[in-house]
Amino acid sequence: MDIFEACFSWQEAELVKSSGLYPYYRTLSSSEGSTVEVDGKRVIMLGSNNYLGLTHHPDVLAAAHDALDRYGTGCTGSRLLNGNLDLHESLERELAEHFGKEAALVFSSGFLANLGAVSLLGHQEGAVLFSERENHASLVDGVRSARSDTRLFKDLDDLERQLAQGTQWEHALVVTDAVFSMSGRVLDLKRLTALKQKYGFRIYLDDAHGVGVLGHQGRGAADAAGVGAEIDLIFGTFSKSFASLGGFIVGERPVIDYLRHKARTIIFSAAMPPSAAASALAALRLMRSTPELFEKLWERVAFFRRGVERLGYHTMGSTTPIVPLLVGSESLAFRMCREALDLGLFATPAIYPAVPLGQALIRTSVTPAHTEEQLAHALGVFEQLAARYPIPKVTDAAQLPAAEEMDFSYLFPEEA
Ligand code: PMP
Repeated sequence: MDIFEACFSWQEAELVKSSGLYPYYRTLSSSEGSTVEVDGKRVIMLGSNNYLGLTHHPDVLAAAHDALDRYGTGCTGSRLLNGNLDLHESLERELAEHFGKEAALVFSSGFLANLGAVSLLGHQEGAVLFSERENHASLVDGVRSARSDTRLFKDLDDLERQLAQGTQWEHALVVTDAVFSMSGRVLDLKRLTALKQKYGFRIYLDDAHGVGVLGHQGRGAADAAGVGAEIDLIFGTFSKSFASLGGFIVGERPVIDYLRHKARTIIFSAAMPPSAAASALAALRLMRSTPELFEKLWERVAFFRRGVERLGYHTMGSTTPIVPLLVGSESLAFRMCREALDLGLFATPAIYPAVPLGQALIRTSVTPAHTEEQLAHALGVFEQLAARYPIPKVTDAAQLPAAEEMDFSYLFPEEA
């Protein structure tokens, strides 16, 4: 067997491309934050994770420029040996202080942080990892490469059932997303920490979509739930609200020091580039000094979410700047995103396995950088699409569509 056979025979992308609806790897040729240029046309960007709209904030740009001038373009080595900048250390100090934890560690990407930390902590004699079924791929890979006793749970009821089979779980780490990235669903962290008190496990919380958005000054989902002190390790990424690239973990100093010296993804990978570290630090300082950012964010989110709900879209109960529009059919999500782009709006489809089969979404997210005019334009686009296509009328979770297999009927409707 040719090891490349799977590649040569794989045709899914070509099939979608031939329908003209291929939605991936779109080429953006410039960006102003709330708008991007695609195929020579400026469109409203409603498909980013730029939750605070800081990618083009003057302070963030100036910090990145200064770092380029002072340190050059890259660190060309791991932090362990030769790439550890005072910028990384300032970022860690201010993050630890911001989250009220003893120490912080920054990695070159969030994926690397999750993979390195979870695989290391889990890789111990007798360790048990409880992992939420919908966790991000980086946690899934961390759990897999820990090669320890792993137990998936589908919700907190399920976790509790599994915990109740024992009495003490000090050797267990519960690994979970705080905000689920496609639906915007927020985990009940009060309940999770109550379980922790009863059973004694440790918690690793991936708050990629909550940090910089929820809680006081963007301290995240745990702060919003009033349980920040109970979470052992909080993970965040700089690739979303921090308008940069990289990831971080905050927690107790000995744990962070252990990760600093042992996690393979930090010691064997080059350091976060200077301009990325400087822009993340500038973004953090803005979160701490500019309450208006959050006021504007929530005002814009409420305006847009109410608007799409009024048009009949189900938004999956999201309470975050992620506003998912339930479409159901995978190929319909592709078609609607294509037509939205033609009407001046960039939004992304989310299909299985990122969401359950038959519950494809158009994933949008709103930022304070969007103007009301831009959001009104976006609502106009979704109004036209809702008039043209059958949007599932769902009022509660029990009515969510189920499907046996992928629905390709909107790829080539003329042939159906
Ligand atoms: N966790 C979650 C929940 C995410 O959504 C992401 C990014 N999509 C990551 C981790 C990885 O972060 P990064 O982009 O920094 O690699």
